[in-house]
Amino acid sequence: MPVKILVRYGEIALKGKNRSRFEKQLRQNLTGAVQDYGAEVTKMQGRFMISGPEENRDQIMERVSKVFGVVSLSEVEEAALDIGEIKQLALEMTGQLAAAKKEFRIETRRANKQFPFPSPEVNRILGAHLQEHYPHLTVDLDHPTFTLAVEISYDRAYLYLDRVEGPGGLPVGISGRGLLLLSGGIDSPVAGWLSLKRGLALEALHFHSFPFTSQRSQEKAVDLCRKLGAGSGRIVLHMINMAAIQKELRAKCPEDMGIILLRRMMLRLAEKLSAGRGLQALVTGESLGQVASQTLESIAVTEKATGMLILRPLLGMDKTEIVDKALEIETYDISIRPYEDCCTLFVPQNPLTRPKLEAVENHEKKLDLEPLLEQAMASLETVQVKR
Ligand code: ATP
Ligand code: MG
Repeated sequence: MPVKILVRYGEIALKGKNRSRFEKQLRQNLTGAVQDYGAEVTKMQGRFMISGPEENRDQIMERVSKVFGVVSLSEVEEAALDIGEIKQLALEMTGQLAAAKKEFRIETRRANKQFPFPSPEVNRILGAHLQEHYPHLTVDLDHPTFTLAVEISYDRAYLYLDRVEGPGGLPVGISGRGLLLLSGGIDSPVAGWLSLKRGLALEALHFHSFPFTSQRSQEKAVDLCRKLGAGSGRIVLHMINMAAIQKELRAKCPEDMGIILLRRMMLRLAEKLSAGRGLQALVTGESLGQVASQTLESIAVTEKATGMLILRPLLGMDKTEIVDKALEIETYDISIRPYEDCCTLFVPQNPLTRPKLEAVENHEKKLDLEPLLEQAMASLETVQVKR
């Protein structure tokens, strides 16, 4: 018997054309998530059904539970559309649970209005049937220890006991494509996850300073992308070497302006990369007021270096909330591994907290920007990180 998994998604807010786009993208993403395990996705009324080989059950459940757009999933048993068969299956499924005293409820959803019994009637029939065979059981609609759910579909009835939460949100790809600026810190992977959750397909860009920074910063970026790819399939990761730019900034610009100037160079490089790849927005892990480079003035002066839209999904989050999220999405342990960020390499004693755009631009005039940027672009390496 193949394993069958019923997948629910947020249908309430979905109307008309949006709904069919959502369903099409979600179906494609689910297929991408489970096909390695020999499973298939079929569409049902407001649901998807996944069936695959029993031996891959756990892997399939794990994959599906990470796909954005999935609200919840349940492993189901199926019966023919016949009340006798449904009663029999209900007994089999609850046999073990019914060995001791328990409260239960039955919850029926009838998508197929041709089925002769309305939902409350099915609840009553099955409830009575279980109690008749299992004297330990009592019905408790408000505080059941277990719930047997029944979905009456067009060709079959599906019964299940458990429900696993999915991440919710929108299927990746439905909201366009962006470029995540991925450092090795705690924040940017969380920012990436939140954007993926809103349906934005992502590529990632990591700046390193090899040989001033070790190879480890790049390994971290790869591992972070692998985690992020769990919900989206795969992430294309780009890496650019900032060493030459950093040397030049250090030689020619005031120390306290170093971070702002470096950030502006990063944004220019991100823009160049995006232009060739159809990426429509940048995503950063910036929050407000966390560090000197994240005052309103610093953010404003930094972002003037690019004409691109910059998304900052963490803006309203406290550090503790960001850390909780990082733990939940399992990026935290990777982020806290020791490494040298290219930004921590030349950290000034007292970075400017209120930089002035004019002063920053005046210093940039002393630099030969375009050749510096081109040289950095020449160091670009790109890898595909699969989930
Ligand atoms: P994070 O935890 O993401 O490193 P942070 O709190 O350390 O963030 P900053 O160092 O000010 O904040 O960096 C702000 C944002 O700039 C980062 O979240 C990231 O999006 C981007 N960024 C910083 N350094 C890098 C880097 N080396 N490569 C790519 N993006 C970077
Ligand atoms: Mg950082």
